[in-house]
Amino acid sequence: MRKRPIATNNPHIQALARIVGETAILYRKEDLMAYDCDGFTVHRHLPRAVVFPNSTEQVAAVVKYCHEHDLPFLARGAGTGLSGGAIPLNGEVVISLTRMKRLLHVDLENRRAVVEPGFVNLKLTNSVAHRGYYYAPDPSSQYCCTIGGNVAENAGGAHCLKYGVTTNHILGLEVVLPNGEVIEIGGNGVPDPPGYDLLGLLTGSEGTLGIVTKITVRLLKNPEAKQTVLAYFDEVEDASQTVSDIISAGIVPAALEMMDQTAIEAVEAAAFPVGHPKDIAALLLIEVDGISAGIDEQINDILTICRRHHVREVKVAQSEEERARWWANRKTGFGAMGAISPDYLVQDGVIPRSRLPEVLREIADISRKYGLRIANIFHAGDGNLHPLVLFDASKPGETERALAAGSECLKACAAVGGSITGEHGVGIEKKEEMRFIFTDEEILAQTAIRDVFNPKNLLNAGKLFPTPGRCVETKTPSTVK
Ligand SMILES: Cc1cc2nc3c(=O)[nH]c(=O)nc-3n(C[C@H](O)[C@H](O)[C@H](O)COP(=O)(O)OP(=O)(O)OC[C@H]3O[C@@H](n4cnc5c(N)ncnc54)[C@H](O)[C@@H]3O)c2cc1C
Repeated sequence: MRKRPIATNNPHIQALARIVGETAILYRKEDLMAYDCDGFTVHRHLPRAVVFPNSTEQVAAVVKYCHEHDLPFLARGAGTGLSGGAIPLNGEVVISLTRMKRLLHVDLENRRAVVEPGFVNLKLTNSVAHRGYYYAPDPSSQYCCTIGGNVAENAGGAHCLKYGVTTNHILGLEVVLPNGEVIEIGGNGVPDPPGYDLLGLLTGSEGTLGIVTKITVRLLKNPEAKQTVLAYFDEVEDASQTVSDIISAGIVPAALEMMDQTAIEAVEAAAFPVGHPKDIAALLLIEVDGISAGIDEQINDILTICRRHHVREVKVAQSEEERARWWANRKTGFGAMGAISPDYLVQDGVIPRSRLPEVLREIADISRKYGLRIANIFHAGDGNLHPLVLFDASKPGETERALAAGSECLKACAAVGGSITGEHGVGIEKKEEMRFIFTDEEILAQTAIRDVFNPKNLLNAGKLFPTPGRCVETKTPSTVK
């Protein structure tokens, strides 16, 4: 954070500094450069300023100021978003929630906790684990992403197959609306509250409807037992069929993850190698949990299904330490791409599980067509693919080819009745691809809802919906001053 005194006559900077304090604002170009993108690094734009409020009142005052002076603004958590949601496309005032990182309340009797938006996901589980509880949504970025960012993106994770994504674990929100008013939604435990489901609407709205300043989440009791299986296959087709058969046998694993050969090459070259054979075509990481009775039976059924599909080797973790090593290897999978490629783009399509083999074949064709390697590391159990397109941005034309290849992967997902995002959001990355799955009328219905909350479209404009002129989107921030 800035240590030097404010040295600008810019009245907006001075006014914002009066709200958050002189040490809680950045406005010099060299400081702003750290905020010109998020995890989607293809587009970069400098913000006007970055402010670090430490209370709902300060967030509301900043928003009110922006609203009254027609300044575009947006919220930012940890900046790990992969679809460009926190990129200040219009020179926004970035409202960083990282100082609002308190765990406000833990109520184990009612299995809930209240956190500020900048609270880091994994810290919540770490804070209640000694009492036998945990917070279920576990994005692979959970060691650093914020729960506010998770709410905005409706984040998923490896264990969301059985337990559901973020929206299934949010009980209440405090939200600063784009005009600076503060509202509270839910939070009182009523199972079917009257009126519209605003919690559902706000969760996954990608920071376009309001800024979340307090979150009530559901906590779960640790499962009594847990077992983890690692299975190596010589054919992707066999691994895919195993996924389908496990689910159709009525088993609901806590997690069912898949990596292909290129992904395995990367994770074995990165920080947490575990010795996977490099010549296999795919591996599955399968976890079951629940009450102890019946777990062994489920594991036996899974081993039988793996063998039916010609598994080369299959093993059950023999200790918590071994299980943790397998998961560390999987969860650092995206970052591991850096070990085999200078740049990569993460895609996030969803398909019906039964179409896995054909879509993976199509992705291999796209890889050949564009002359770029594509690794696959994904939540196979819920059909949430993550093709990682590897490229070198320093080579002319490769970034454009990578973007086109990524878009084509999403088209393939949409063509089999799937979707263009399972958990990373649309942001700026996939806004044109929204047309693969929605008609103009359907997009118009959604922008009409946004306009009710965000009528001046000053909050996070230019995200989520197709570009003006190319479809139905009409409003852009009224001015960029
Ligand atoms: C290595 C890696 C692995 C990942 N794995 C997963 C995964 O398994 N599952 C998954 O779902 N995602 C994953 N992600 C993506 C990312 O971590 C998630 O989208 C996460 O929810 C973003 O949180 P953040 O705090 O970084 O938000 P940011 O990136 O800062 O912001 C994301 C969006 O949320 C909005 N926003 C942030 N805070 C607020 C708030 N308080 N109120 C309103 N809007 C807000 C921003 O405006 C922006 O549009 C991964 C990312 C990386 C880099």
